[in-house]
Amino acid sequence: MSAPQESTTPTSTKKLSVRIACECGYFTQTKVLPGETTARTLPCEHCGAELTLSGLEAETPAIDGSGGIWSCAVCGHPELFTRRDLPQKIGVSVVIIAAILAPWTNYLSLVAAALIDCALYFLMPSVATCYVCLSEHRGYGPAPTHPRYDPEIADRVRFGDKAVMGVPMREGGTANAPEPHH
Ligand SMILES: [Zn+2]
Ligand SMILES: [Zn+2]
Repeated sequence: MSAPQESTTPTSTKKLSVRIACECGYFTQTKVLPGETTARTLPCEHCGAELTLSGLEAETPAIDGSGGIWSCAVCGHPELFTRRDLPQKIGVSVVIIAAILAPWTNYLSLVAAALIDCALYFLMPSVATCYVCLSEHRGYGPAPTHPRYDPEIADRVRFGDKAVMGVPMREGGTANAPEPHH
């Protein structure tokens, strides 16, 4: 008879990187291991204020054993939005170089640039940002997914549940939620 599977046993050892937003406006970076479920504190690198990774020991831990992110590792809020971390400078310079080369390459360089931009987009790590405290998470597992920025959620978080008529928070937050329609 085999032992029952412990749901908190880490199956991934890939560390996540968390940039904790401090009220002073500065971000302090730290690493979190999959399956870490104890809140810990560290000082803000800028003002020294105590920052707490309290999401780690929430009822549903922020980071599961395979590195999946269920809520903000810092404040525990379950709504996050994701974006690709493509530095805009790179994308723009690829297009500029392609445009310069275009007359000599029968404009094939423009096609190549589009493909390169597309490939870069998918190679770049995605960043999950907390709607409430704006802390950023990188290097998390593929599941669950979080959709892109939704201004309705941002408004509700900022002004309270009554800001957006009849749109309460989705149960479980944004984990595996569909992309916003607008
Ligand atoms: Zn600070
Ligand atoms: Zn947060």
